[in-house]
Amino acid sequence: MKRLWSGFVVVASFAAVSAQVPRQGPVVFEGARLIDGSGRAPIESAAFIVEGDTITRVGSKGDLQTPAGSVRVDLTGKTVMPAMVDAHTHPGYRKRLTFTGDNYTRENLLDTLNRLAYYGVAATLEMGTGRGDLPFQLRTESHPGAALFRTAGRGFAMPNAGPGVPMRDAAYGVTTDAEARTYVQALAGKHVDIVKIWVDDRGRTVPKLTPALYRTIIDEAHKQKLRVVAHVFDLADAKDLLRAGIDGFAHLPRDEVADDEFLSLVKQKPDVFFTLTLWSERRGIFGRTPGWLGDSLLKDAYSAEEVRQLAESFTTAPQDELDRSRRTFDIEKATLAKLRGAGARFGVGTDSGGVSGGQFFGWAAQIEMESMVAAGFTPAEAIVAATRNSAQIVGLDRLGTVAPGKSADFLVLDANPSTDIAQTRRIRDVYLRGQRVDRAALRERFKTQ
Ligand SMILES: [Zn+2]
Repeated sequence: MKRLWSGFVVVASFAAVSAQVPRQGPVVFEGARLIDGSGRAPIESAAFIVEGDTITRVGSKGDLQTPAGSVRVDLTGKTVMPAMVDAHTHPGYRKRLTFTGDNYTRENLLDTLNRLAYYGVAATLEMGTGRGDLPFQLRTESHPGAALFRTAGRGFAMPNAGPGVPMRDAAYGVTTDAEARTYVQALAGKHVDIVKIWVDDRGRTVPKLTPALYRTIIDEAHKQKLRVVAHVFDLADAKDLLRAGIDGFAHLPRDEVADDEFLSLVKQKPDVFFTLTLWSERRGIFGRTPGWLGDSLLKDAYSAEEVRQLAESFTTAPQDELDRSRRTFDIEKATLAKLRGAGARFGVGTDSGGVSGGQFFGWAAQIEMESMVAAGFTPAEAIVAATRNSAQIVGLDRLGTVAPGKSADFLVLDANPSTDIAQTRRIRDVYLRGQRVDRAALRERFKTQ
């Protein structure tokens, strides 16, 4: 049933995309090291063919038959990997240094999709903070040089107890089973890509969505062939959500390290996914002076003032805040080691645009992979999480791998991230739906927007 639904989404997006891609002959990209997103060993001197918006053939340079009249692009010395997918964002509220509901406009959402594309992100999933019809209009569209938009529409919490301000009123506040079912049915009518719930009392400051209500939401969502993803904090809630049939987690439990009971519940449900949102623990991971703050790529889409304030969030944070973040990261790291051992499924989700996520769309997805490696993942695992797995989580099966039949969404890198994950930031080019993104033009636009 799940497969059927995601198939429907793919067909819809394909139609929207192909309408806008100009006809062109086959293009052969050859000579690059190819990391295909499946986790297989790279092909050292690869060749692949793109026709229109689709990858039609993949193999080794010299072995691959190329159609007559093909255009050739020599990528010798480069590395190619699939474009990334950020499976957890809150677009629309942040604009430069401001953070308000008034920012939730078509123009601002499109600007965010451009920023994501600039950093190599082909699609994103808005996690339950959609406003009005705008997100549903955007998800049917495809804009050259912009990431695709997918959405959970409005998520669920107890009244006035969901996402942080100023996003709080975006969520449905529910107190009865009847309300919960009605709202899930309304979301199903709008073809949301997933259903989001918040199960967190925010340090006992708000009421937590009750087990009875989330069971009703999950039951109704599954009847409507929709998956449900949960924001959690406490391990005990994560366990009960697994018993209730949850499909994925937007964050790791972070109050204590996963125990055997949790691991056995995860093993019983191998399809359950985790996005890690490690960006919020960046101070605990990188300390006061992250090496990446000096990376010129950060400044391409974000202003000097934004970068200065980001730097200050490290240098001027009180020591106890750093220590707290370090303790949380240590818990997450220990849990991740166990979950990796249990064969759990990980995607990349940054929480960009949210309260702890900041406005660094695209950049944060890049840093998330470096954070995963700091948490014990190999670079290859981090890349699979950011590409194939995240595409599956969002339900965009044409994204996430460089393989025949897939959408031609890939990055050309000047360096090899197989041994140093930071090299995914050495971006030479980004291709989306077969078209090279004009990143120079985007840089100019970011200066004025
Ligand atoms: Zn979030």
